Amino acid sequence: MDKKTLEELKTRLLEEQKRIQDELGAFAAKDPNLKGDWDSKLPQFGDRTSEQDENQDEVEEYVDVLPVEHSLELRLRDINLALEKIVKGTYGTCEKCGKEIELERLKADPEARTCVEHA
Ligand SMILES: [Zn+2]
Repeated sequence: MDKKTLEELKTRLLEEQKRIQDELGAFAAKDPNLKGDWDSKLPQFGDRTSEQDENQDEVEEYVDVLPVEHSLELRLRDINLALEKIVKGTYGTCEKCGKEIELERLKADPEARTCVEHA
């Protein structure tokens, strides 16, 4: 891979990393003790009966948000991994077979960890 392409992909990874961190930050609080781990703020429950309906909505909303948060965390993890590989000089090789990952695949998905065959 030429240096220019690598720089382009690195820029995209950094932009995506920032975007996902912002998105996670919008509904999650980062635990300063666990790098890269995000905890959702649990909804606050009132104990008055009149608030029960409202709380029910909050719970449903919270449950809906978890799969989204989880997939964002997984993408962020892969992006961080890709950025680490750029530093180490191992970026762009398949984790399964060690061959170079197709450039078209990396352009579509810069955090890809495997070649098309091993996707
Ligand atoms: Zn492979």
